[in-house]
Amino acid sequence: MTAVLVVEDNPANLKLTTLLLHSAGHTVLIAVDAETGLRLARDEQPDLILMDIQLPGMDGLAATAILKHDPATAAIPVIALSALAMKADEERSQSAGCDAYIVKPLRYKELYAVMERLLVEPGAADKQVAPPSLSTT
Ligand code: MN
Repeated sequence: MTAVLVVEDNPANLKLTTLLLHSAGHTVLIAVDAETGLRLARDEQPDLILMDIQLPGMDGLAATAILKHDPATAAIPVIALSALAMKADEERSQSAGCDAYIVKPLRYKELYAVMERLLVEPGAADKQVAPPSLSTT
């Protein structure tokens, strides 16, 4: 069983997201603002976080940056949710440390595919192949 923290301020989006996650058999934790999301992430240690970018007060990218700088939460994969297909949002979400990026409205196949990838290989999106070390001495 997977515990997913959803940080989303829009009631309709929250309802849809919760429905999709429950349908897939996941446990859902809910926060409607970034501050509550940060607290739940630290206290409950979810397996994955779905983070809306546009939140009242602190936005989802600022919250993700905090999560990724905190050793207690840095390893939890974060999927950024953007309301608009804006290239700038995708780039900004990568800079903030998000592991993946999805444009709303959520399509269940895309959500499940991204979640499966992140849960099987946490941090896989960030890993780079290190060049072989060549010693010349
Ligand atoms: Mn929002």
